[in-house]
Amino acid sequence: MQVGKSGRTYVVCPLCGHAFGTAYAGTYVTIGREADLCPKIPGRPSDGARVIQNSVTMCPACSFAAGEPFDELDLTFDERYCIEERLKEDGLLKVFRKGQPPWLGFHAAEVCGKERSFKSRRLGDLCLRASWVCRKEKERPFESTFQLRALRHFMRALQEDTLVGRELSVTTYLVGELNRRLGNHREALNWYVNAHRTTGGDPRVAWLDRLIDRQSKLAREQAA
Ligand SMILES: [Zn+2]
Repeated sequence: MQVGKSGRTYVVCPLCGHAFGTAYAGTYVTIGREADLCPKIPGRPSDGARVIQNSVTMCPACSFAAGEPFDELDLTFDERYCIEERLKEDGLLKVFRKGQPPWLGFHAAEVCGKERSFKSRRLGDLCLRASWVCRKEKERPFESTFQLRALRHFMRALQEDTLVGRELSVTTYLVGELNRRLGNHREALNWYVNAHRTTGGDPRVAWLDRLIDRQSKLAREQAA
């Protein structure tokens, strides 16, 4: 459990230089996690959504977004140019920039992350968090959209990133769990088996083995 507070701070956009006030997440209280590792946060679901949302900052002027503190970012000239172009051309940003739906910051951070050569694991994590926010805000179609994107990034991560230990086990498990949530129950079962193989009975990830057992049972019932 984490205890702390959040608040507001002023930041300067590393892309366009716009200065603006923004909320920061700080630390927060959690009361466990859902099976896709979404933190359970006390209070109304929309309060929890806001806490998760605060883990990315998005510039209101140019839509540059990132999970890191803006003052720690040092973009190269080429990165700046490519990110600017991508943000201008992005279809979802064009449509939703004005309405500012709760998942928009994660989408923008994914767009920027691709130009900043983020590894697939990290891009998948942004999409997974977007799906958590959508669930808490009851945005069903967008929840599935981001689950599918997270799934694709995680699959690529398993092929291309060199994941080891806990990260390998958790990523493999999440591929199973996201498949289950998207209705691919048989596929999910295969990935749970793979995930179980990667833990090798390591007591440090006993919690994950328990989760794999529980979710496998659920997927078997759903597949029947
Ligand atoms: Zn900006």
